[in-house]
Amino acid sequence: MLKDDCVFCKIIRGEIPSAKVYEDDEMLVFKDIEPKAKVHLLAVPKDHFKLLADMDDARAALVGSMLKKIPAIAKQNGCENGYRLVINQGDDAGQTVFHLHIHILGGQVLPW
Ligand code: 5GP
Ligand code: ZN
Repeated sequence: MLKDDCVFCKIIRGEIPSAKVYEDDEMLVFKDIEPKAKVHLLAVPKDHFKLLADMDDARAALVGSMLKKIPAIAKQNGCENGYRLVINQGDDAGQTVFHLHIHILGGQVLPW
């Protein structure tokens, strides 16, 4: 289920434009609007939930399926030499959008 007031749900519905690099029935991958690396993509499930702690078995399978597809998507988008995945969880991690998302960072040697 998508949520009316969620920025990533709005992107999924096409109400906010985004630079999409991959889409299928369960996930969307688009460029982060404020890239923190030469390649900075966000992979979001087409199901609104906030945290890994909110996963049931179906959502766990969905996230597993997303992870399985990410290596090919990363490689096709300039991360041939490696990349980092980040999933911020909650305030101490600096999470700003409360729709689960996987940051894909690469295209350069990452500083940490
Ligand atoms: P978080 O800090 O929650 O882990 O990451 C949220 C990310 O979403 C940030 O890196 C931020 O730049 C990105 N972001 C927020 N709003 C938008 C938007 O409207 N479009 C795109 N493409 N990225 C966004
Ligand atoms: Zn959402």
